[in-house]
Amino acid sequence: MTRPDVIKKVIELLQHLPGIGPRQAERFAYALIDMKAEAPRALGESLIALAAGVTRCQECMRVVETGHRTCATCADGAVRHLIVVEKDQDIDAFERSGITDTGFHLLRGFILGGPDDAMVRDRIRSLYARIETLLKNPSDASVEITLAFAATADGDMTAAYITKILEPLASQKLSITRLGRGLSTGSELEYADRDTIKNAFASRNKTL
Ligand SMILES: [Zn+2]
Repeated sequence: MTRPDVIKKVIELLQHLPGIGPRQAERFAYALIDMKAEAPRALGESLIALAAGVTRCQECMRVVETGHRTCATCADGAVRHLIVVEKDQDIDAFERSGITDTGFHLLRGFILGGPDDAMVRDRIRSLYARIETLLKNPSDASVEITLAFAATADGDMTAAYITKILEPLASQKLSITRLGRGLSTGSELEYADRDTIKNAFASRNKTL
């Protein structure tokens, strides 16, 4: 096929995105060619700005503007209820639901029994450290951790793993909860509507 190299390059790069196969990448590439010149240029410029303009909070791992070590919530340090989530979009889903007074802890994956687990285990160790710090300062205030995972086998396995890891911290001051009714089996948080997330959060169950 004698496609110009610039098109081949765009098609190849688009396939690095989740869920984009060769056919879809081709469709996007040709659509970009047929757009008015400003649109692909604006897209290119915003991608460059995205690469240079964001980093991750050192505590919760959520995306923040470059130049910030932590997000506003972690910098403030007043929050004593952390919601543990699998991915970035789950934080967005909670914020859309209007749930406030909570912080987050992003795992960026589940425990699946494979090589990618190392990063997730590392995030779970840092969760442990965050809880330890919260339990000490001040020593009389309670702490809640909500494991807010998709209702899938991987979500369940990860929740069980974290509950076991956090066992040494068990005390009257620490509650570990999981999302309650409303999330149907197999459902991903990012696709759940606002009320479903709100209800599941309101009816969360204690696991430790
Ligand atoms: Zn943060």
